[in-house]
Amino acid sequence: MAVKFKDYYDLLGTSKAATEDDIRKAYRSLARKYHPDVNPGDKSAEEKFKDINEAYEVLSDPDKRKRYDQLGPNWKAGSDFTPPPGWQGANVGSDGFGDGFGTGQGSTDFSDFFGSLFGSTRRGARAGAGFRTRGEDVDAEITLTLEEAHRGITRSVTLRRNEPCPTCNGSGSKDGKTCPTCRGSGTVRRDKSFDVTIPAGVRTGSVIRLAGQGDPGTDGAPTGDLFLHVRIEPHPLFEIISEDDIQIELPVSPWEAALGAGINVPTLDGTAEMKIPAGTQGGKRLRLRGKGLNKRQGGSGDEYVKVKIVIPPRLTAREKELFGKLAAESHFDPRDLLPRR
Ligand SMILES: [Zn+2]
Repeated sequence: MAVKFKDYYDLLGTSKAATEDDIRKAYRSLARKYHPDVNPGDKSAEEKFKDINEAYEVLSDPDKRKRYDQLGPNWKAGSDFTPPPGWQGANVGSDGFGDGFGTGQGSTDFSDFFGSLFGSTRRGARAGAGFRTRGEDVDAEITLTLEEAHRGITRSVTLRRNEPCPTCNGSGSKDGKTCPTCRGSGTVRRDKSFDVTIPAGVRTGSVIRLAGQGDPGTDGAPTGDLFLHVRIEPHPLFEIISEDDIQIELPVSPWEAALGAGINVPTLDGTAEMKIPAGTQGGKRLRLRGKGLNKRQGGSGDEYVKVKIVIPPRLTAREKELFGKLAAESHFDPRDLLPRR
């Protein structure tokens, strides 16, 4: 049976010059996209997920990567592959390699190509750090008020996560039997609380990465990371109208609008004084420069104040009298402002 060459760099969408960090990033984003939990029942996503895990297993391990790179640049993905003559490891430690070529019976974690390079297709079958499995990354949502996103905050977060089983230390068995606490899985679900510092300037869709706060790895391998996805909840006063700008609809009395006034306007950091010019019409937008949302990289957006002219909900007798006088006195007909037809 022929073994097909796999282009691990191509599978991760990276170049041969990719740094360890590039490879890790590429893997994480693809693993999230093709994870079976996200694509239930999708066979092609499952295959893809297996492929990128295999690619990551090789390219994230300096020894394996070096070995893979020794094959040279001339191999094409999918072409029949035979390890070069004298290739060490290809026939070493044959757990099932000689006769059981490709008959992994579900226990095969990696492809035959992988097996022909490293002597085994089984995850963890060979001793050595390279075969331990890093823990899964965990995604969670965090909801912030607009003020918290603006100023930043340290928040205690409680998440239910997988942890190594304390009874069997994650091995899944105890005294030669299946561990009764975790029923052999090696992990238990536990609530864990920790403090998260969220910097000023995050937005809905921002992702905060907490290294090492994901699921535990197997056999002492590193834990995964926790990715907190930020969501900003609606605010009673302010609307976010662009990346960094907010808007408030501000009630203004007819006489403030007509005569002009200095008024206090709510902002994210208290209040600011603003001048309403005489003759301001309803719907007019005024700008408070620098009173918008703080940006991650420093500086802030603007706050827009949209004027809403309101009349007193209940008029006193005196107010009614004064409005009556104004009505009798004024020649202003608001309908004159309609466009001519
Ligand atoms: Zn256990």
